[in-house]
Amino acid sequence: MDLEGKRVLVAGAGKTGISTARFLLGKNAQVTVSDSNLNAVIPEDLIKSNVNITTGPHENSTFTDQDLIIISPGIPLTIEPIVKAKSKGVEIISEIELAYLFTETPIIAITGTNGKTTTTTLLQHMFETSEKKVFTGGNIGTPLIEYVSGNQDADYIIAEISSFQLEAINKFRPYISILLNITEDHLDRYDSFDDYAAAKKNIFANQKDTEFAIINIEDKLAAKMSEDIKANVLFFSTKNEIENGAYYKDGFHFLKGSEKIRIDEEGVTLQGEHNRENILSALSAAGICNLSYENLTKALHTFKGLPHRMEFVDCINGINFFNDSKATNVGACLKSISSIKPPIILIAGGKDKGGSYLPLINEINKNVQEIILVGEAQNRIKKELAATVPMTSAITLEKAVTEAFSKAKEGCSILLSPACSSFDMFDSYVHRGNVFKTAIEELRIKFI
Ligand code: ADP
Repeated sequence: MDLEGKRVLVAGAGKTGISTARFLLGKNAQVTVSDSNLNAVIPEDLIKSNVNITTGPHENSTFTDQDLIIISPGIPLTIEPIVKAKSKGVEIISEIELAYLFTETPIIAITGTNGKTTTTTLLQHMFETSEKKVFTGGNIGTPLIEYVSGNQDADYIIAEISSFQLEAINKFRPYISILLNITEDHLDRYDSFDDYAAAKKNIFANQKDTEFAIINIEDKLAAKMSEDIKANVLFFSTKNEIENGAYYKDGFHFLKGSEKIRIDEEGVTLQGEHNRENILSALSAAGICNLSYENLTKALHTFKGLPHRMEFVDCINGINFFNDSKATNVGACLKSISSIKPPIILIAGGKDKGGSYLPLINEINKNVQEIILVGEAQNRIKKELAATVPMTSAITLEKAVTEAFSKAKEGCSILLSPACSSFDMFDSYVHRGNVFKTAIEELRIKFI
């Protein structure tokens, strides 16, 4: 793609937008950066360059008078200025598409409703343990465009990819795509679950039979998607043996080319059925890339789990505390309450994302003793889960922790797994998780 002299708008001045603007300047494009937030912070180097900067409510003309728009993941394609620009023939792509057009490094792209960050980080660890050079980025933190701007010398790019990033791609074509699962999420952004699933499916859209798609066969919707894609499909399952793929049965079985390999579960640091899924998908990709049994075993033994994802925090008076603040949707919460020892006192609630809480009913009835609700979504949750266990409300997360502790008996687990996003009361899921952990530290000081 020749960008020289092209009028390019970067819509959204977050981390990705800023990196993109810098890249475009380096390619001598005529760059405009726009952000609907009047107080968006634009770094000095861009202010001093000849980039046009517009902040505050979007003007249609800022969008329509362009050759190309790079749209940030946070902006829906349905906003008026984007629709108008599209109808005038302006090309609209996401930053991952732009990065793809400027690199030849093979990409391993990981998507799914839950488990993306865990799988991406685990794969990075597997490659690094095997002394391969990788760049890890995308939705996980560092925009892919930063790889393209710098020295391109990695063996692989490992990219966590969200549905938002997949909405505006044309040619983005990973060497390996991983689809972990699709459950309800982001229904505050999409018109329907089908629209959300269609965005996820885009990860396979441009792959050919020289490439690979790794798909969770136990996720019905994901498995269905395999029917009309061109890439070589490798399924994985935690429940059934798979002839040409990966599965869990007394250890992790996967393929390295045509060789069948088994790694024992003993010594593997990641726990829980959902993490078996993440491990199987990562091993499948590692097998395609020919990483050795020894290095993969070592990687699985030395991988340190990520904070805020089923993170064991403390045990006070025989009561275990788990921080799963990153469980921002029902699918993640469901896996958490089925993967720790009951009885559980569940702390849930936060900002509602429009999905249904009903899928939680069976697991709650099996494993949860009581639910303590916080945040905006509590009335909906109370209504939908009325036929389950007793529910009470707490004004703050700190109060929820003390209340849960006062009700818990020895052997009980107190689990923060909100099934909602954090933005009603916190800056982020990290902030929420840290408040939870601080409240537990205070309990420890009081009770020990
Ligand atoms: P993502 O990046 O997709 O949000 P994370 O790895 O950060 O995924 O995990 C987010 C939440 O989902 C955590 O609560 C975690 O315990 C849960 N989780 C992780 N892997 C899976 C999986 N394969 N299926 C369902 N839930 C998962």
